Amino acid sequence: MRSASTTASARTTESLSSAARRAARRGGRRSPLGTLRAVAYLIVAFSFALAGGIVGKIKGSSFFIWFLVSGFLPGIGLLAAVLYRYERDELRRQCPTCGKVLKLHDQVCNRCGTDLDFPEVAIEPESAAYGR
Ligand SMILES: [Zn+2]
Repeated sequence: MRSASTTASARTTESLSSAARRAARRGGRRSPLGTLRAVAYLIVAFSFALAGGIVGKIKGSSFFIWFLVSGFLPGIGLLAAVLYRYERDELRRQCPTCGKVLKLHDQVCNRCGTDLDFPEVAIEPESAAYGR
């Protein structure tokens, strides 16, 4: 006849081993399925990064920045790149100190460092000046 304590300890051992089995099935980094998933994720992230970078570049922005944003936030980054403004469509202005043509939204001249007030006259955007 089995005592109650033996039954209880047997049950504990049983549940522990099943928990271990479940953990093993879930797969850590060592399991081939986990590695496959990580590689698949990297491929997807890289594709998004590339797409985001290209979209950013087409819009006259930095390929590298949009590559990083889209790579770290697959989907969201690409969406942001798609929704981001076209640099070529931005109105421009001229720096009163050195004469450099800047984007209207620039607040400091990137050539001479002059603080810029909002101008009274704007220059038409590149896309309108040169066509696409
Ligand atoms: Zn300037």
